[in-house]
Amino acid sequence: MCIFCKIVDGEIPSNKVLEDDNFIAFHDINPTAPIHVLVIPKEHIESFSDVDADLMAKMTPFIQDVVKKLGLDESGYRLVTNIGSDGGQEINHLHFHILGGGKLIWKHYQESDPKRSI
Ligand code: 5GP
Ligand code: ZN
Repeated sequence: MCIFCKIVDGEIPSNKVLEDDNFIAFHDINPTAPIHVLVIPKEHIESFSDVDADLMAKMTPFIQDVVKKLGLDESGYRLVTNIGSDGGQEINHLHFHILGGGKLIWKHYQESDPKRSI
């Protein structure tokens, strides 16, 4: 079972922000912004590439509610999902990062493999 499925099951504790029948939002264990929250579906879905439109339609208002609860709706925030190897996805259970609480930098590409180019 993946780490996030264990969080859904309560096997691994998490600092929850909001939960409903389909989704959980909890604080990232290793925050990279003053506020860094993850939103996951309770169902194990590998990544954004695998999610169906019905679940995404439900996820949208849930994420908007989390943003409001965090008080980021006025100040702004970043919503990110990493997909696969080049996307930097470490946990293969769909999750959206909500980042905020201060000005965020915007830098994406690191040339770590000289054999590859964009
Ligand atoms: P990814 O790189 O897959 O987009 O993001 C995975 C995120 O999950 C990382 O930001 C990492 O800090 C977070 N994370 C990994 N393990 C745990 C955990 O056990 N609990 C919590 N709350 N966050 C985790
Ligand atoms: Zn999972």
